[in-house]
Parts: sequence; structure tokens; C-alpha cells
Amino acid sequence: MRKILILTLSLLTAFCSLAADDDWNGRKAAVVLTYDDALSVHLDHVLPVLDAYGMRATFYLTISSEGFEQRIQDWRVASYEGHELGNHTLFHPCDGSQPGREWVTKEKDLSLWSKARFLGNVEITNVTLEAVDGKKRRTFAYTCGDTKAGDESFLEDITEMFPAARGVNWGTESLEEANLSRLKTISVMDNTAEELIAQVDQAIAQHQLLVFLFHGVGGGHDSINVSQAAHDGLIQYLAQHRHEVWIAPMIEVADYIKNVRSTTE
Ligand SMILES: [Zn+2]
Repeated sequence: MRKILILTLSLLTAFCSLAADDDWNGRKAAVVLTYDDALSVHLDHVLPVLDAYGMRATFYLTISSEGFEQRIQDWRVASYEGHELGNHTLFHPCDGSQPGREWVTKEKDLSLWSKARFLGNVEITNVTLEAVDGKKRRTFAYTCGDTKAGDESFLEDITEMFPAARGVNWGTESLEEANLSRLKTISVMDNTAEELIAQVDQAIAQHQLLVFLFHGVGGGHDSINVSQAAHDGLIQYLAQHRHEVWIAPMIEVADYIKNVRSTTE
């Protein structure tokens, strides 16, 4: 029995060592903090905490939203501090024909749009964001995770336009698996700090890329929120575990993944 146990343990150790402790830019795991929809609470509740810990994130901005239009200078400052302003379209269209999407208005219903109209929405957002941060490259987040306008897929077009795009499918990915056309995410909704920290611990143990998706923080969203305390508890934990976790904006992690793949091919 004891021999079997030792054999099992040594096999497990051998298996685990396939993923190196420095896979992710010298750390065991990578965490990307993403905040969607250009909410004012991101500027008021999130940025002060991130900046206090010197931590940089990606904000996926919908440029027709109030939180963008009325706070352009604040977003510019955020970009100067090293945060990424990601593209989350002009009007935030979603496929209204999906179950549970009764809230989608006819004007913003992707099932009634053409691919050309959707890509125009994406392009105008790139141009506007460049006017804010001066950058020509940024990453993208699919609105509602949708990848089709009418019955035309725009997944390949988005893959060509951006170094990476984040979806809404639940999960974490290894360096080998990470699908830059549609990265997985852990969507945060009413979680405790302990639950969010458990996700980080799991990513460290499994050498994974963990992308958090936040909407409201301490309020700010109609239905998807997390408390300020839970959010801040996560940030504090990440700050304490920087020796194990690489925390960076999506574009830097995407470039890192591409670089590793091009040098190992
Ligand atoms: Zn969104």
C-alpha cells in the first residue's frame, strides 16, 4: 500500500513539473483584471485601489455609455497610469434572440445587424480610443460574449483586428491552451473575497491564466455587482502574492503568450 502511495505521489510530481514555476513571465500564474462597460464606479471605486497597489488592469469601454462620455479625461489619465483601454464597441449590441435577453432593445439587437455594421461599431471605437490614449493596439471584449451578427460570424475578423479578445465562457487556461480569439473568464457576481481568492489559489496551483470579469463594484450596474470589500480583498491578496502571480493588462499577457509561442515553435 505504502509503495503504491509513493509511486502515485512521484507520478503526480512528475506530471506537475511539466508546467514550470516560471511559465508566466517568471511566475506560476497570470491574472488579468478586466472591468466592462465603462462604468463610473471603475474610475471612482476601482482605480484608486489599483493605483494604491501599483496594479494595472484592462477596462473594456463602451464609448456611447455615460461613464465614458462624461469622464473622457479621467480615462485618459487611467491610460497614462498604465491601464489598458480595451474596445467594447460603440453601442454594446447583443443577440436579443437568445433566451434571457428580453432587455436587448431592437436598435441594439445583434441578431438584426449585419457583420459590416458591427465591425463599423468596433472600428469607430478604436478610432475614438486612440484619440484618448494615443494607442493603435488594444484588446477586445465581445459584448455579451456574442460572436455573430445575424447569422454571420465575426470571430475571424476580430481575431485579425486585435492581439486578443475576451469572451464570457467560464474557465481558466494554460499557456498552451489559451485561445486568444476568445479567452475564457471568471465572471464576478456577488462573490465574497474568499471565493475570489480561492480562484487565484487554484490558478497558482494549476499554472493557469485567470481573467476576472467585473461589472459593478460597490454598485454601478443594473444587475451584476460585487461589494467593494470583496473586490478590495482580492486586490490586497494579489498584491501579497506578486512573487507567484503576474498581474498585467490583457494586451501585455497576450503579447507574452504570442512571444512564447513564436520562440518555441
Ligand atoms: Zn458588456
